[in-house]
Amino acid sequence: MVKLTYLGEFGLIERLSRLCPCSNAVIKGIGDDTAVLRSPVKKQLLLTTDMLVENVHFTRKTKGFLIGRKALACNISDIAAMGGIPKSAVVSLGISGREDSRFVDEVYRGIGALAKEFKVDIVGGDTVKTHQLIINIALTGEASMRDIVYRSGAKVGDKIFVTGELGNSLKSGHHLTFTPRLAESQFLVKKYPPHSMIDISDGLIADLGHILKQSKVGACLYEDQIPLRKGARVADAFKDGEDFELLFTLPPDKASLLRRQKKFNMTEIGEIVPAAQGYFLMDDNGRKESLNTSTGYQHF
Ligand SMILES: [Mg+2]
Repeated sequence: MVKLTYLGEFGLIERLSRLCPCSNAVIKGIGDDTAVLRSPVKKQLLLTTDMLVENVHFTRKTKGFLIGRKALACNISDIAAMGGIPKSAVVSLGISGREDSRFVDEVYRGIGALAKEFKVDIVGGDTVKTHQLIINIALTGEASMRDIVYRSGAKVGDKIFVTGELGNSLKSGHHLTFTPRLAESQFLVKKYPPHSMIDISDGLIADLGHILKQSKVGACLYEDQIPLRKGARVADAFKDGEDFELLFTLPPDKASLLRRQKKFNMTEIGEIVPAAQGYFLMDDNGRKESLNTSTGYQHF
């Protein structure tokens, strides 16, 4: 067993580069002052970052592989939510130095496995001595200007859709093992371009709230249409978060075409309404409850 104290920063970064061979989009990866990457031709460059902290996003009991995997998966989910393709990542790790080096290897192996699956190059990193375990990944992506989907594009009359199922992500372990919805995102931007899109990290109510605020519109959600993960109630879908599903809006003509596709699991859960009508939930008897982005939902 190699304790990290003896391994040092160079050893760690070297291990990372051995685990993650780069594609030819990388002119220089790990091993110099910066990475050198080929610029996207006729495309826009996307950049995102996400940080996971021990006892906030995972505990010492969480497997290193799953921690590493999740750290990259959250970032890929954000690139997918913009309509982009993930490209290159840098990985920064805060560790106490007392960890078994096999644990850190497992973190890198988790990153490497998902990087391979999604063709992401790991091109650099840094390690710092900290009390809590911290893992921060920054990821670039590429997208054609016409494929980029913002939160601000929702229009009155749009239908609201979500991929997969919502709720109970933390208890069920879905938040550690989810597959970022990149295939779904590419399918959408190429065939049924959404007016607006976001990935669900804070729960359906808060994340749809971001779309509504930025698009200056309201929404009606159909209570009996919300797709629920096993063991989840509607309230869990609203508030739990960490689902990493795509939430998007489409004009009615595109929505009726999308309803007929069988390739991916996508569910229509509501409709965009004028801002003056507010943000509300409707049950199958047509009864309405107003929704509140800070508390999830409130009864009248
Ligand atoms: Mg996001």
